[in-house]
Amino acid sequence: EEHLKAVDHHNCRLGQWLDAGGMDKIPEKDRFSFQVAHEQVHKLGCSALEQAKSHQPERIVEFLTEMELASDEVSRVLLERIEEEFVRLATLDPLTNLPNRRAFDAQLTHNLAFSQRHKFWIGLIVIDIDYFKLINDDYGHSYGDDVLVEVSRVLETALRSEDYIYRWGGEEFAVLSMDKMSEGPVVLAERIRVAVESHLFCSESSQPTNVTVSCGAICFKHDLKVPEHEIFAMVDKQLYLAKDAGRNQVSHLILEAD
Ligand code: GH3
Ligand code: MG
Ligand code: MG
Repeated sequence: EEHLKAVDHHNCRLGQWLDAGGMDKIPEKDRFSFQVAHEQVHKLGCSALEQAKSHQPERIVEFLTEMELASDEVSRVLLERIEEEFVRLATLDPLTNLPNRRAFDAQLTHNLAFSQRHKFWIGLIVIDIDYFKLINDDYGHSYGDDVLVEVSRVLETALRSEDYIYRWGGEEFAVLSMDKMSEGPVVLAERIRVAVESHLFCSESSQPTNVTVSCGAICFKHDLKVPEHEIFAMVDKQLYLAKDAGRNQVSHLILEAD
């Protein structure tokens, strides 16, 4: 019966992980109840073993029932954390730390509902770095990455706090905005364009450079009876027009509902 030896909450696998820094990953609001529950699982296990060793099985069922509750709390906190981490990984671009296209859909749905209630215009701006391939070719891919990160920061600075920005793909970004006036998105896009144009990139490096962007902007109301993919096609068309007209400019369209 000597082999019936309990594990405590520091030398179990979870305990070792927690002590090695895992605890930092548990949200602060859950830490206390999580720690209590985890300790409880092992204490109850010990108590059950004690009872077994002294051949008094009466209370074992009671201990196991309590243990199940405590273990459920441990799982709840861990599962919530895992789920959160999956969502974070799936919706965050690791290079720029901006939300990606997946996160965009949820915000668009939210903006559509908000604009319906408060009669706001919705703006969608697609921003594409001009001649970015040349930056990679001339200075290298890692320099190109640095420029992408710095462009992200410049864009964020040009936005208002209620605007949302996404890394749309390679060297493209998208902004979702809401405005009382239909000119809002084009004014914002122009501010973004000027912010990038007037910024010196990689200024600490041996090869600082200037960068420009072209923007396609579209402004519409929630009651516009146009499917989403057509709105995306329209904003792409505006971007194409800005590129075609010589780059470093904004092309925009205001869609009035009929
Ligand atoms: P345009 O003015 O017409 O937009 O020209 P462009 O060169 O910017 O456009 P193009 O689509 O030809 O090239 C985009 C380049 O962006 C090609 C691709 O290698 C580069 N790119 C995409 N994603 C990344 C990335 O994460 N890091 C780096 N360094 N380059 C990237
Ligand atoms: Mg592009
Ligand atoms: Mg480009």
